[in-house]
Amino acid sequence: MSKWSIQRLLQEHLEGYRQQYGMTLHQHKAAQSLMACRTARMGSHAQYCEAGHLQGVYYNSCHHRACPQCQALSRERWLVSRESMLLDSVHHHWIFTLPHQLNPLWQFNRDWFQDALFSVVSATLKQLTADPVYLGAKPAFLLALHSWGRKLDLHVRRQLSWPVRVNYDGRLGFRILSGSSLF
Ligand SMILES: [Zn+2]
Repeated sequence: MSKWSIQRLLQEHLEGYRQQYGMTLHQHKAAQSLMACRTARMGSHAQYCEAGHLQGVYYNSCHHRACPQCQALSRERWLVSRESMLLDSVHHHWIFTLPHQLNPLWQFNRDWFQDALFSVVSATLKQLTADPVYLGAKPAFLLALHSWGRKLDLHVRRQLSWPVRVNYDGRLGFRILSGSSLF
């Protein structure tokens, strides 16, 4: 374990944090996974290479999606996969935020809200861009869910990236903003 790591920070300070601020079950499970990753608590496995390059017993990974220790490769693969989908074009980045008044409900209905937020954003974009008044086209876009802000506060939103090619004249952005009642 490196000198400075999320795992070490959790191992040394999680209990104090929990006593002072409390934690949800979701947060508790994530923290337990990150603290146990690649330690004896996770069990072990043997790796062996017939050419003699590798031989040993190693602790198992936690495979939690928030773990920076064992998910780095998965994250890189996901980024490369998404990049391969992008068109050779300028892309716009938009954000559709869940009204903060709904955050308490989101905490206990995550699956439903994630699906609903995706469906609403997707339907709004398709409806507006299909209208000849705005664009008259079928768009391609990439949506990703972000649920935490930079200050680690709850900030649920869909991040949208989509390509904008030559026939784009700037009208669409303004029209969608003014038609926000659809979202
Ligand atoms: Zn891990």
